[in-house]
Amino acid sequence: MVKNPSGAESGNVPSAQDIRSGNRRALARAITLIESAREDHRAAAQALLEQLLPDTGQAVRIGVSGSPGVGKSTFIEAFGLYLAGIGKHLAVLAVDPSSTLSGGSILGDKTRMERLAREPGVFIRPSPAAGVTGGVARRTREAMLACEAAGFDVVLIETVGVGQSEAAVADLVDLFALLVQPGGGDDLQGIKRGVMELADLVVVTKADGDLRNLARLTEVDYRSALTLIRGRGEGPKPHVLSCSAVEECGMDEVWQAVETYRAALGDTGELARKRAAQATSWMWREVEERVVTALRGDPGLAKLSERLQREVADGRKTPATAGARNWAATFRRNCTCMPAA
Ligand code: GDP
Repeated sequence: MVKNPSGAESGNVPSAQDIRSGNRRALARAITLIESAREDHRAAAQALLEQLLPDTGQAVRIGVSGSPGVGKSTFIEAFGLYLAGIGKHLAVLAVDPSSTLSGGSILGDKTRMERLAREPGVFIRPSPAAGVTGGVARRTREAMLACEAAGFDVVLIETVGVGQSEAAVADLVDLFALLVQPGGGDDLQGIKRGVMELADLVVVTKADGDLRNLARLTEVDYRSALTLIRGRGEGPKPHVLSCSAVEECGMDEVWQAVETYRAALGDTGELARKRAAQATSWMWREVEERVVTALRGDPGLAKLSERLQREVADGRKTPATAGARNWAATFRRNCTCMPAA
């Protein structure tokens, strides 16, 4: 098998041209490469992404989050079918921090979104089965760029609402939609303020049957809660609306809210600023991840690290002092032998 300059076998590396032409198998292979932990695959994926970069950026990037059972997959299927119906090409990706624990994947279940998966203009990619949130989200960002180069005009990134993954996803997208269930004030209390602060759009799900009226009341509750939380915030005001995925009602309003929000960002130049800030924030995440990986894996520092950890655990040193000591030792050890960029 021929090797490309980065060392990865060329049979595994799709051409940028195939991806640009919308070849699904090439796109799927590119994402497999992006998700690979192998260093040669990572290098090949980066080389490919560099080539694709000029063809990225045109999609509407939407994040969807919510607690398990809130109705995410039912919503994404109904919303995706609506988008396909108005001629949009949609890619659905997932960030699943729970997959490390369960070994499963939020999009891995083949029975999920069956109808959506059959749509010719739709590409659904289950989340990688392992990795820390930052790593999974970073690879999802790269998968999103590959989807954009392949011509998808809406990229939807789903994450299960269990904590830090929401912040990582909000840092990937133009608009972060939080799904919530119809319910009383107690439910509202249960949603962390930090997650509410991230929301550009709150969608109350299951607004049908017996829950229809409660959904409307919930909408009002969230609207006033968001005014309190985001009252003086910058950027467009977050929307709150309700829908029923089962009855496929309200999908047009959701899409309209997305378009209005996105247009407001674009009109003020905020979209370009937001994306630029996100890209640089991912660069620093990359630096942090590499530094920490190098630090933790450095055999010359293992003894010192162990001793410092013990001292911190025993309460003899503060984490700050120990961290600074560890970093100083690492810097002294590595600054003369760092490879050139
Ligand atoms: P997820 O865990 O957030 O992906 O939630 P699911 O999409 O799997 O939905 C959880 C449950 O809520 C399922 O039993 C769905 O049938 C139900 N559900 C989802 N959307 C709706 C809706 O619009 N109306 C009603 N009545 N039930 C819904």
